[in-house]
Amino acid sequence: MKAQIGAWEKDRQQLHAILPLETPLLLEFHPTHICNFRCNYCIQSSERAFAGGKPFKREHMNWDLFKLLVQQLSDFPGEIKMVSCAGMGEPLTHPRIADMVRLFKESGKVKKVQIITNASLLTRELSHQLIDAGLDQLKVSLQGVSTEMYQIIAKSPVPWETIYGNIQYFSQIKGASKLSVKIGDTALRNGEDEIFHQLFDDVCDAVGIEHIYNMWNVNGVNVEDKLKDSQQTVWGLEPREILFCRQRFTTFDILPDGTFCLGGCHRRFGFEHNIREVPVAEQWNSAGANQVRRDMLVNGRKADPLCRICEGGSQNWHPEDLLEGHEEEILARMRAKELISD
Ligand code: SF4
Ligand code: SF4
Repeated sequence: MKAQIGAWEKDRQQLHAILPLETPLLLEFHPTHICNFRCNYCIQSSERAFAGGKPFKREHMNWDLFKLLVQQLSDFPGEIKMVSCAGMGEPLTHPRIADMVRLFKESGKVKKVQIITNASLLTRELSHQLIDAGLDQLKVSLQGVSTEMYQIIAKSPVPWETIYGNIQYFSQIKGASKLSVKIGDTALRNGEDEIFHQLFDDVCDAVGIEHIYNMWNVNGVNVEDKLKDSQQTVWGLEPREILFCRQRFTTFDILPDGTFCLGGCHRRFGFEHNIREVPVAEQWNSAGANQVRRDMLVNGRKADPLCRICEGGSQNWHPEDLLEGHEEEILARMRAKELISD
């Protein structure tokens, strides 16, 4: 196996041509807000953080609520392209994570299920359970390539050999599941880029060295002093300003307590409800959600007080997702479908 460079999906559509979407492309699913690490650039390292407009609460999603979520996915007319089990905790701390993968896969409403993990809890037994459950992709986020860096960045005593051994074992048994490994530029010291590639290029389907950027100030945490200067986006492109952020057109989050958030950045615009009160498809296609999408296209990203301070726009842009120059055609389609009135 020789890994592809870049750990993110490359089979992308021209986004402007398919908006508005009755079925979202991506569900950012948060099985838990509990993590066994405290990485120094992550919301987990702060006590001041917010998620879904509320102070950050460390909890797992309960099983009945999870079943309700999967049941509600059948209200979408199409298939969600990807469920990403990640969010602001470590998914493998959830005792039923493999059952969750299985239920998503059996729902028939999800094309791919991925887990983003720190791999410290990826035992041999759990690797087999995840693969048997039908996991399509495991994406590992590293905090270094040595025990010392794990102590510095993740505040974890986990030995590097444990992390590497867990990944190697998954690679040996993974069958059709894809394995990618990514690392932040802040976690590599001089010369360690090469070590990273030597360790993983033959073990993984994809690898990536990524720039860590400041998005958390949207959720009450500013990590600027922990980061390196930006040279490249996660796609390997030069950072650039964008007028419209794609997130609220493509993505929604479900937090462990059942909170629905539009746009993958755990914010609240005012129309959202817990999924126990209003089903997900109803919230995705609600007047409130469409108003928020309209505001992005009419006023631009910079008119929104939180988008203005978020680096997600410039650090996570992709050519196929650019909406610049297409805003009028998208608004016209939204009006024709009576999703918005003006
Ligand atoms: S492992 Fe992930 S979720 Fe946990 S503290 Fe580190 S970056 Fe945050
Ligand atoms: S710019 Fe940032 S805060 Fe605004 S919608 Fe995009 S990701 Fe969310």
